[in-house]
Amino acid sequence: MAEIFDPKPVEVKGFEIDERILKLADKAEENCSARFAEIDRIARTNGEKVLRAFINNKVSAACMTGTTGYGYDDVGRDTLDKVYAEVMGAEDALVRHTFVSGTHALTCALFGVLRAGDKIVSLTGAPYDTLEEVIGIRGSGNGSLADYGVKYDQVDLLPDGKPNLGEIFQKVKDAKVAYIQRSRGYSLRPTLTINGIAEIVKAVKNANPKVIVMVDNCYGEFVESREPIHVGADLIIGSLIKNPGAGIAETGGYIAGKKELVEQCAYRLTCVGMGKEVGCTLNQNKLMYQGLYFAPEVVANAVKTATFTSEIMTLLGFECFPKRDDVRGDIITAVLMKNPENLIAFCQGVQKGSPVDSYVTPEPWDMPGYDSQVIMAAGAFNMGASIELSADAPLREPFAAYVQGGLTYPTGRMGILVALQEMHEKHCLRLF
Ligand SMILES: *Cc1c(COP(=O)(O)O)cnc(C)c1O
Repeated sequence: MAEIFDPKPVEVKGFEIDERILKLADKAEENCSARFAEIDRIARTNGEKVLRAFINNKVSAACMTGTTGYGYDDVGRDTLDKVYAEVMGAEDALVRHTFVSGTHALTCALFGVLRAGDKIVSLTGAPYDTLEEVIGIRGSGNGSLADYGVKYDQVDLLPDGKPNLGEIFQKVKDAKVAYIQRSRGYSLRPTLTINGIAEIVKAVKNANPKVIVMVDNCYGEFVESREPIHVGADLIIGSLIKNPGAGIAETGGYIAGKKELVEQCAYRLTCVGMGKEVGCTLNQNKLMYQGLYFAPEVVANAVKTATFTSEIMTLLGFECFPKRDDVRGDIITAVLMKNPENLIAFCQGVQKGSPVDSYVTPEPWDMPGYDSQVIMAAGAFNMGASIELSADAPLREPFAAYVQGGLTYPTGRMGILVALQEMHEKHCLRLF
């Protein structure tokens, strides 16, 4: 038998986690081992896919430098679009640091594709909070889609969280855009898997072959080995301070899909006629390339952290979505904290276990774009980056903490344990 390498690693001093929590962590981790092996397998496929796309598109040293001014002939920018397109299975892509957030990228896609009189139908219930104002479900007179005469309709998920395929079939018949949100966002609905998206796309295209299927892909990239375009979606949108930026891209977003649709979105981001041909990249190219290169592995670390979180919180008696063995479609774990005290202690603990700003204490606040107060723990290298270990929670029933990220599994895991220690010290845990 081979000798064990470093059989007794030194114990790191200073975290001072209660022995019972440490024991529980070992047990939770052991229970996750089969899942972790599957996560590694997916990361390998996605890593190979990304490497292949770099090679096929001849990514060069020149691509790593950026342009200024108008940004004409930016080989790094144009090649990155091609690399993203290949990885996502799309004809074309628009990857820009000038998308200020995921919401902005989604807004460009919606305004790029929809015209007055068109109808958009959300097939997965209410869209992400910040999009309600963009669509015009909340507020008016401010330039929302509704102000421009775009109609909105919605198909709610069934009580078990599954899409209502019958109602979808009816409502997309006269729609221009069928809108799907892959991730659970700030809700307890199950995340859609790629197979789930495939099923919806089939129903939609059967009812109306011309409808544009648009997927909010935030938090979903690289969680499975296929992306929504691989199963028939026309346009996908995401944020670079989430999965595909791997904590390395400093800001930005992407849109990928059918060539003519991506062009319409680019007309919205810059100007009609100029589209993708302009937009300097400053010093952002290298970081966006590196982010994509690291993304499959970083997402795997985040999914492991999420799976571990679900398991240990379940062992502690908190209901979690998804459970350890549920098929995952995103990097989020929702933990039902039962009351505001637990919720706030947990989020403050996550902050304490973060690499940056560990010494500050997050408090609930009125965040722009959100309906209720929100508490956010985010001690991240890139401000607000939620591929980094973070916990967001709207202070409303059922006091769910949405935990996501973890650039590395060891730091993500310890971040969660520091949060549990904080809960323990505030008498929010029952340890045996
Ligand atoms: C993060 C996210 C968005 C966009 O949010 P930003 O904070 O603007 O980047 C949209 N939809 C979902 C499901 C998300 O998770």
